[in-house]
Amino acid sequence: MIPEKKDSARALVVGSVAYDDIETPFAEGRRLLGGSAIYAAVASGYFARTRVVGVVGNDFSDDDFARLDRCNVNSAGIIRDESGKTFSWKGRYHADFNGRDTLETNLNVFEKFEPFVPEDWRDTAFVLLANIQPSLQAAVLDQMNVRPFVVLDTMNLWIDIARPQLDALIPRTDLFILNDSEAAQMTGELNAVRAGENLMKKFPALPYLIVKKGEHGAVFFSRESDIFVLPAFPCTEVCDPTGAGDSFAGALLGCLACGENVSSETIRSAMCRATVMASFTIEDFSSTRIEKLSPAEFDSRFERLAAVTRV
Ligand code: AMP
Repeated sequence: MIPEKKDSARALVVGSVAYDDIETPFAEGRRLLGGSAIYAAVASGYFARTRVVGVVGNDFSDDDFARLDRCNVNSAGIIRDESGKTFSWKGRYHADFNGRDTLETNLNVFEKFEPFVPEDWRDTAFVLLANIQPSLQAAVLDQMNVRPFVVLDTMNLWIDIARPQLDALIPRTDLFILNDSEAAQMTGELNAVRAGENLMKKFPALPYLIVKKGEHGAVFFSRESDIFVLPAFPCTEVCDPTGAGDSFAGALLGCLACGENVSSETIRSAMCRATVMASFTIEDFSSTRIEKLSPAEFDSRFERLAAVTRV
């Protein structure tokens, strides 16, 4: 943990901090810094100062805290639990990179994790509940002193084993982000547009929803206007897709935190930037690529995305 005086950050992320072992059809990486909070905070930090809440174990390296510090991320909300090891996850991608299997999940210090939002962070205006148990995501919202703009991410595991908690959390959030397969899991609808419409009906208090379709982009639903459909950036250099979804959500948070009011227009614009960020994430293992992303590289890819989608 790098102690820091009160900052003026408008973005806060809670999620997992992990060491990942990854196997892709072409390469392998061991003990890579990962977890939903890491990818999301680094991506958000590119746009806006970002606070992160999480837990690590006695094996977590100070160099990894320093990596966050260099990325405009305040890691003072990451607790070090000396009684165990950092959460770790092992995954293997299928030949086409679209599917992956979880080979191992070691909860370690996550098992006893109770998120604690530092007192002077409880007025943060924009909060991302990155992928962790819905009950832990709810515990963060319970500690806030203001009603922030809340972005919610999840995964198939929680839809399977914590559905009532997830269903109870969705009405407390403003923008729910999930994959097409997760949307199908929640609604029984294989068509992503119908699944999204179904979720918007099922959760009338939810203003905004994004259904991600992997390499086929994302669909945005709002109550103000028709759907918005955005393709993914046409990537040619894929090393490791891990964290694409987390960095998409984190970039969205950071972009929204740069502005005052959120509307379907500002979310559409943030989605374009989030799509560009995710395209960089997958070019290397861990958050390595987005940690060294320059504004010139980002802007040039953003302009290309605008060009290839123009009619
Ligand atoms: P993504 O590729 O965006 O789905 O996110 C991958 C990240 O999620 C990896 O860095 C993992 O450490 C993390 N992860 C995997 N399983 C879990 C889990 N059950 N809870 C929280 N984080 C997880």
